[in-house]
Amino acid sequence: MSLGIYIQVPFCQTKCTYCNFHTGVVSPARFAPYASAVQTEIREHRQRLAAAGIALPESFAALTADTVYFGGGTPSLLDPAHLAAILETMRTTFRPAFLEVTLEADPETVEPSKAEAWSRAGINRVSFGVQSFSDVELTAAGRIHRRADVYRAVPILRSAGISNISFDLIAGLPHQTAETWQNSLDELIQLGPEHVSVYLLEVDEDSRLGSELLRGGAKYSASAVPSDDVMVEFYDLARVQLRRAGFEQYEISNFAKPGFASRHNRKYWCREPYLGFGAGAHSFSGTQRWANAHDAAAYVQTIASGSIPVGDLENISAKQALDEELFLGLRQLEGIDLSRLERQYGTLLESRFARLQAAGLIERSGPVVRLVAERLSISNEAFVELMR
Ligand code: SF4
Repeated sequence: MSLGIYIQVPFCQTKCTYCNFHTGVVSPARFAPYASAVQTEIREHRQRLAAAGIALPESFAALTADTVYFGGGTPSLLDPAHLAAILETMRTTFRPAFLEVTLEADPETVEPSKAEAWSRAGINRVSFGVQSFSDVELTAAGRIHRRADVYRAVPILRSAGISNISFDLIAGLPHQTAETWQNSLDELIQLGPEHVSVYLLEVDEDSRLGSELLRGGAKYSASAVPSDDVMVEFYDLARVQLRRAGFEQYEISNFAKPGFASRHNRKYWCREPYLGFGAGAHSFSGTQRWANAHDAAAYVQTIASGSIPVGDLENISAKQALDEELFLGLRQLEGIDLSRLERQYGTLLESRFARLQAAGLIERSGPVVRLVAERLSISNEAFVELMR
């Protein structure tokens, strides 16, 4: 068992129309105080969490921290010196053996001097929100970068020695067609990232585009969003073509060249412990989950006042833990070992899976159950059925 560390950087240059994250567009003058607050939170997390009623298990002190993930927001907006200082604080606070240090980046923020500084600081993986190779789709979605920025950024990262690059693509952006989706897949495969995440456009009230879609409006190019069926076709096409190009699908949304599955994200799906720092960051100790409050300005103030802005503290019951194991386990294509769970949780699970098997949603090999690869696009049905 090892520890993952997550740093939330909730700042962006603009707000993408489909974005449902708690991020804000703020003056760059606020970046340095934020980075400094994150360092304080890291250094003093144990005492401050204890004061907030969260006692980290004794075993935590002995855990090696082997993954770090700067997520957002757009953490690549921070001065590289701030990122380096945060990493240095982690090295002196935890037992570091950083195997994977990821920085989420927008392609247009990449410059040679920055990439070299990232690499020197120990960042060895960059995850790009590419989303599409169509400038029409990128413009409609409110993204700042354009297709050409991706082509410019990748060689800069490679020259700086960053050999693990991940691209995100979104199926379902406004104006996306079978032709532009195919083109995005072709260009992505040609650029040769080590890792790819493919997401379906999320439609909910928390994004401008989502709420417009729910109201049946046309703002934000909502009327040019492909239908759900088409999105599913795009996703299935991506699965097939990425596999053909040498990527292994290891999770519903994630594909990797051999040896490049995300170590950090695997911790979330395998219920391994992680500590999150920064506004809105989530943490999991094995028995408790909690999250910092979202407001970045309030976060900096709370840290300055000697406290910690913890909210949403939840003690995980055995039933919840088992539900999480099932839900998170099924997301992974290697599946779930039912015999392990039955032993660990002292309960029989066969009957819960019988309906799914009868519906052709899962397949079995011995004690291992997994979602049927060809039915992954309807995995929500399986999750709903399983949790009944
Ligand atoms: S860059 Fe990412 S986090 Fe920022 S607004 Fe766009 S989708 Fe949201």
